[in-house]
Amino acid sequence: MAIAESGVVETPQIRQTGILVGDEFRSSVSGKTFATVNPATEEVICEVAEGDAEDIDLAVHAARQAFDSGPWSRMDARDRGLLLIRLADLLEANFDELTALETLDNGKPIADARAADLPLVIDCLRYYGGWADKIQGQTIPIRGDNFCYTRREPVGVCGQIIPWNFPMLMVAWKWGPALAAGNTIVMKPAEQTPLTCLRMAELALEAGFPPGVINVVPGYGPTAGAALVRHPLVDKIAFTGEGTTAQIIMAEAAKTLKRVTFELGGKSPNIVFADADLDAAAAGAEFGLFFNQGQCCCAGSRLFVEESVHDEFVERVVVQAKQRRLGNPFDRNTSQGPQVDKAQFDKILGYIARGNEQGASCLTGGARHGDKGYFVEPTVFTDVRDDMDIAQDEIFGPVMSILKFNDEAEVLQRANNTRYGLAAAVWTGDVGRAHRLAHDLRAGTVWINCYDVFDAAAPFGGYKMSGLGRELGEAGLANYTELKTVTMPLGRS
Ligand code: NDP
Repeated sequence: MAIAESGVVETPQIRQTGILVGDEFRSSVSGKTFATVNPATEEVICEVAEGDAEDIDLAVHAARQAFDSGPWSRMDARDRGLLLIRLADLLEANFDELTALETLDNGKPIADARAADLPLVIDCLRYYGGWADKIQGQTIPIRGDNFCYTRREPVGVCGQIIPWNFPMLMVAWKWGPALAAGNTIVMKPAEQTPLTCLRMAELALEAGFPPGVINVVPGYGPTAGAALVRHPLVDKIAFTGEGTTAQIIMAEAAKTLKRVTFELGGKSPNIVFADADLDAAAAGAEFGLFFNQGQCCCAGSRLFVEESVHDEFVERVVVQAKQRRLGNPFDRNTSQGPQVDKAQFDKILGYIARGNEQGASCLTGGARHGDKGYFVEPTVFTDVRDDMDIAQDEIFGPVMSILKFNDEAEVLQRANNTRYGLAAAVWTGDVGRAHRLAHDLRAGTVWINCYDVFDAAAPFGGYKMSGLGRELGEAGLANYTELKTVTMPLGRS
């Protein structure tokens, strides 16, 4: 491993590229592989085993056996929790390597991987490690001479399908609650970013998770992902990604009535009133949209600004956008890396073209940055109307759409006028207004005078077409348990 500057590794060793079934990393049954690409250079990093239906079948059987009869099924809950905490410790011990691997495979700035991604991963696993022995039922005073109680039991084998925008964090959000509750897992990471998931799985074995509890099958969605959704021995599918993929998954899962939870996209309103702290709001607008190259499901991609401060606010935001530093994601001063792949890059440039065609004003950015890597300039549009594509669709890139509004009732109506409902933010000095809007916005998360404040203990998920169920917190655990009612006559005469 070459170390560029203190703690930053530019060429992390690639340890695992195989399919994890049980405790063995192996080639795919077909022998096929696929390339994973460095989006900053467009160069192939390495080949990874390409799982398909047969590999999924092997992984599901390993997970089934571990759930039904392996040591995991008899392990004390507290010991399950300790394994999660031990895994978190191992991730911390391999901090430099893991963050570098994430930056290499995904393109996100190393500064973000180190300050946000991996610390949140570690915190999430420790949080759920603490929950494992606190998942409790109730005693229920039913009629008659009966003793009645409930148990919260694991759902069983969980198929988990994740995207590429926060590869390690999505692993933690999925593994943490599932394992704390005693489930076993078959995970399919995104085809663009399989490397950190595979390394985390290797570290999970080192931490002591029994074989078969965690299985990882890299591959493509329509083949490996679809086979996981179809498999009759899988009890639940947890998916994060695009809504149209969730619809395909839901229709297929219906055939075996699998439990499903979805964390999907958004077009989140970020609302700035004239009485807000405008410095804080401008910083929040920039971070809320451009963080992670705009590749966030909860990105504040509809920025509503009150008419009386609109022009001044736009000026501030444009200055900030111009100051963003694009370039080598391994440079600690870089604030924006490349988009994850060519498909995303093309999609974003397509939306920028449509914004221009439909009459929005592009004040900065709007083009590719450089001639190598999938970099897109930080882009700011004003004069955006609610019906334009850039105000309706999830762009998933560094494209800010600014809309003007006049009063509270109007902005509430417009903010809610979307098929999505993942997140929203309100910037104001009026406490009453802040909470009025927090109550009336149809979104799973509302931030007041802040943006993107995440914590493993705080539930996250979407209304409407932004999702089904919640991740994180105690609510996230509920989606990984079945509730059983046990009743017995006490036998008093
Ligand atoms: P997808 O929904 O296609 O991918 C997410 C995951 O689902 C990947 O692992 C993917 O596999 C898998 N998948 C795809 N098709 C199926 C299927 N039929 N059955 C089972 N699994 C499947 O999203 P994309 O990566 O294609 O991104 C497209 C858009 O989705 C983005 O531009 C963005 O708008 C949105 N998105 C939202 C995210 C969020 O956090 N809510 C995250 C990522 C994207 P594969 O690796 O082959 O793609």
